[in-house]
Amino acid sequence: MKQAMNFRDPHRVNRLIKCIQAKAAPVAERLGRPLQIMEVCGGHTHAIVNTGLNQLLPSSIELIHGPGCPVCVLPTHAIDQAVALAEYSNHILVSFGDPLRVPGSQHSLLDAKAKGAQINTIYSPLDALKLAKSYPNKTVVFFAIGFDTTIPSTACTLQMALQQGISNFRVLCHHICLIPVLMTLLKQQEVQLDGFLGPGHVSMVIGVQAYKNIVQKYHKPLVIAGFEPVDILHALYKLVQQLSTQKYTVQNAYSHVVSATGNQPAQQVINEVFISEVNAEWRGLGLVPKSGLSIRSQYRSFDASLLLEKKHCTKQESDPTYCKKVLTGSLKPQHCPWFGNKCTPHHPQSGLMVSSEGACAAYYSSSTKAKAGIVS
Ligand code: SF4
Repeated sequence: MKQAMNFRDPHRVNRLIKCIQAKAAPVAERLGRPLQIMEVCGGHTHAIVNTGLNQLLPSSIELIHGPGCPVCVLPTHAIDQAVALAEYSNHILVSFGDPLRVPGSQHSLLDAKAKGAQINTIYSPLDALKLAKSYPNKTVVFFAIGFDTTIPSTACTLQMALQQGISNFRVLCHHICLIPVLMTLLKQQEVQLDGFLGPGHVSMVIGVQAYKNIVQKYHKPLVIAGFEPVDILHALYKLVQQLSTQKYTVQNAYSHVVSATGNQPAQQVINEVFISEVNAEWRGLGLVPKSGLSIRSQYRSFDASLLLEKKHCTKQESDPTYCKKVLTGSLKPQHCPWFGNKCTPHHPQSGLMVSSEGACAAYYSSSTKAKAGIVS
């Protein structure tokens, strides 16, 4: 606990803010605008908004919230597929909690559950495997979503299902990988990005080296950050230092967790079970080349997409324009005209207002706490 408090120490926070301010001001003056730094990870967005760091930073820095919340970028057709599979009478659909309230084109999973579909919330894909063993006459479908952080656990579960010969288990795979979307964002011209705060959890799996191509090809600095205020500010300071010297590289400001090569057993199990480099649809961003995964032929009998009717495989997205703008960093959540009125956590328009890592949910929770006079 004492160690955690060091990472929230107000004196260290204030000192870092002053250092960032001193370095950032001349760079912003040189550019003629504030520095635009994207925090890729939804966990960072929540940490920044909930601790008020966004209000402490100087006006020479603007933080852009990135697409690193897997529930927020889950496309409508993924929800529709999960709903369709849940509605089959002999199916049990299992899912993490966050996707349940994300709207599909007709219903959310929660709506489907209210109408009688069998949908269970789980904390680990291994719980899905246990359920499949307990209900041998049902088909148990795991709705697999998430970035490189959660992919290894799905891969391990598929390996166990194969080893144990569990034939009534399926995976609806909507896992996605982070590096391709950063490349896509950098190719888009609307958002001027000067650098990235790299995600802590994903980096723990993929390692520091995974980002080298981004820096070399697009000449943007990236610093991997932890989740406490001092972690985030320390990484931000390193980013501003790089922008000041105009020498760009990947730096690791979360070295107590992230290594140069990442978690190699996790990478190995991913490669054994999944084929990467499949094009995948992201809510708000459209098709992101080589960002998805498909299940290798050895595990094909566990692929729930084979159970879907053709009509559920067509990809039609109908997101509000505002959500797309928030997801690409061109609109702040609190500037969305629907924020807090037509769109709230109880009546969300998209995953951004649902997820524990969603930018709109972070701003909503922070504004609600501020109104109630609660300090985080
Ligand atoms: S407030 Fe709601 S409608 Fe507006 S961007 Fe956020 S999720 Fe979308």
